[in-house]
Amino acid sequence: MKITTLSGGVGGAKLVKGFYDILNENELNVICNTGDDLELFGLYICPDLDIVMYTLAGLVDEEKGWGVKNDTFHCLKALNELYTRENWFNIGDYDLATHIYRTELLAKGYSLTTVTEILCKNLGLEKVNLQPMSDDRVRTMVMVKPNVYIPFQEYFVKRKCQDPVLNVVYEGAEKAKPGVKVLETITNSDIIVICPSNPIASIGPILSVKGIREHLKKAKGVKVAVTPIIQGAPLKGPADKFMAGMGYQVSALGVAEYYKSLVDIFILDERDTHLKNSIEKLGYSVHITDTVMNSLNDKVKLSKFILETSGLKAE
Ligand code: GDP
Repeated sequence: MKITTLSGGVGGAKLVKGFYDILNENELNVICNTGDDLELFGLYICPDLDIVMYTLAGLVDEEKGWGVKNDTFHCLKALNELYTRENWFNIGDYDLATHIYRTELLAKGYSLTTVTEILCKNLGLEKVNLQPMSDDRVRTMVMVKPNVYIPFQEYFVKRKCQDPVLNVVYEGAEKAKPGVKVLETITNSDIIVICPSNPIASIGPILSVKGIREHLKKAKGVKVAVTPIIQGAPLKGPADKFMAGMGYQVSALGVAEYYKSLVDIFILDERDTHLKNSIEKLGYSVHITDTVMNSLNDKVKLSKFILETSGLKAE
């Protein structure tokens, strides 16, 4: 069995963890958003790839949702006290090691795909094939005032989502090539799952890379989307502002509109059963369950539910 998940950071990583626990070696692929990557202090940082890696390795700080648990922040503190106040992006000391090593390997000429493979291997994650959506630079840019665009992390972390979202563009997407194995992975999958991630800020960038949306459309595998919006709101993060800003209703129905004609099965949360008919009218087969993943058991349960609704079972 081959499963491919399209993932952002926190919400995506939770579901990926569920699949990781029930699947065998070489069964799980993750195509991850790199639209909110950033460079800081000369280091190349991939927040979504890192959250997925740390989550699968059991290192993630679950309370914060990012970074390494029990990490210290000595380096950032020293930078702040001695040299610069450009410290809005919190990087713990352990986390820093990832960015330093990634940056070194990229400087040696390795692609981000290969670097990600190497990082995963070092973290003992040989069971998963985690890939960036592209080895090329794509940047999710948020329009916060007429014709003023800022990068996603600046919007999210530095400015704490205080600005309105007037528009979102994926800079560089039209020229970027999918990661070397991305299209082949999509084509050869039995199931492709769009994780409960921010549709516009996490999945949109992946779909914007030339060829990915088309391959997904043509792929023979069962395509499933899990709602990140429950009872008209995200569980965490600014997905509501992004959806509203791009003209989508902030609801599971709005999410279904966004993925329309790309996905076969829509996993709706049990708190939103009243939306089932309207989502079915968009052409989906709708399946209802509790999609809130707090414990590992919740993650595994939802993964198994997705496999069953797709007509497959983990061995
Ligand atoms: P980010 O890149 O760190 O913002 O993370 P993602 O884009 O992957 O995930 C953000 C989205 O995940 C938000 O819209 C949340 O509502 C959603 N989310 C987080 N946890 C859960 C969960 O347990 N269940 C569901 N259904 N959605 C979740």
